Amino acid sequence: MPPRRVIGIDAGGTKLLGGVVDETLDVHHRVHRRILGLDQSELLDALVDAVEEARTAAPDAEVVGFGIPALVRPGTGSVMVSNHLPLDGVPFRDLMSERLGLPVRVDNDSNVAMLAEHRAGVARGIGDAVLLALGTGIGGGLLLRGEIYRGWIMGGAEMGHMVVEMNGRPCQGNCPNWGCLESVASGSALVREASLAVARSPDTELGRALEEGRELTGPMITGLARDGDPVARGAIEVVGRALGVGVANLVNIFKPEVVVIGGGVSEAGDLLLDPAREVMRRRALRPGVDEVRVEAAAFGAEAGMIGAAILARERPPGFPLAAEPGSSSAVA
Ligand SMILES: [Zn+2]
Repeated sequence: MPPRRVIGIDAGGTKLLGGVVDETLDVHHRVHRRILGLDQSELLDALVDAVEEARTAAPDAEVVGFGIPALVRPGTGSVMVSNHLPLDGVPFRDLMSERLGLPVRVDNDSNVAMLAEHRAGVARGIGDAVLLALGTGIGGGLLLRGEIYRGWIMGGAEMGHMVVEMNGRPCQGNCPNWGCLESVASGSALVREASLAVARSPDTELGRALEEGRELTGPMITGLARDGDPVARGAIEVVGRALGVGVANLVNIFKPEVVVIGGGVSEAGDLLLDPAREVMRRRALRPGVDEVRVEAAAFGAEAGMIGAAILARERPPGFPLAAEPGSSSAVA
C-alpha cells in the first residue's frame, strides 16, 4: 500500500521548497531554504536538513521525492549534469537515501512539475502538453502521448535553452549558448528588466522599495505588479512578450493541447500570460495556434514540490528506490 504521506522537495537554482503531501495532494507542512551560491557539500547538507525538518512534522512519511534542476538518470538517480546546482556526477538518489535512511526518488524538477499538472492540474487527462517553469532559469517538461519525453539519454526537454535571439545575450549557468529563451524570459531576466526600468522611472513603488534597501527579486516584482505598480507591470509585460516567442516555437513543433507556465514568475498570472498569448497568436502557425491553451500551472510555484511527492508515491516504472531489489542494475 502506498504511504499515506510523503515528502516532496523541489530544489531550484535559488531556493528550495519542500512539503509533506498527503494522498489528496494537500500540503501539511512547508519547508524553505535559500540555496543560492552553496557549494556541493553545503547544498547536500541543506537538502538533508530540509527533509529532516519535514520529517519532524510528519514522522509517518516514509518516502522522499526530489525534483532538481539537473539531467538525472531515472534508473540510478544519478545526476549527469546540472546547469544551476553543483551536482554534476553526484549519485544523488543513493547518497540522499543513505544520509536520510529513507527511500528516495529523484527526477528533473520540470519533469516532476509536468507530472503534477498531468495528474491533477491544468494538463489533467491530456496527452500532449509542454511546461515551462520560469524561475532562476527556465526548465522544460514535455508530455507526449501521456508520457514524459526524455530522449535517448533519458534526460529532459531543455526548452528554456531554445534560441529566440540568434545574437542575443549570453545565457546563464553552464549554458554555452546565447539568446536562449532563459536569457529573456526567466526570473533572472525579469529582475534585470525591472532594474533597467526602475532606473528610468525611480519615482514609483518599486523605486521606493529599492531606496529602502530591499533586494530586487522576482516575488517582489510580481507582488508590486499585482498592486498596480506600472514599472513592475511593464517589466513583466516585456518578459511575457519574450515568453510568447518561445511558446510560438513550441506550439509549431509539438502541437500541444496546453502550454503550462509554472515557476515563481507564473505568480504574475495574466499580467505575464496575456502578453505571451498575444505574441504567440501572432506568430504561431495554424491550426495548432487555434486550439492551444496557455495556462498558469494549477499548482503555481508548488508544482515541482507536489510533483516530487507524486513521484515518491507513485513508484513509476523505471524509477526504482535505492532499497529496491535490482535497482543498482537498472538500466540508466
Ligand atoms: Zn541557454
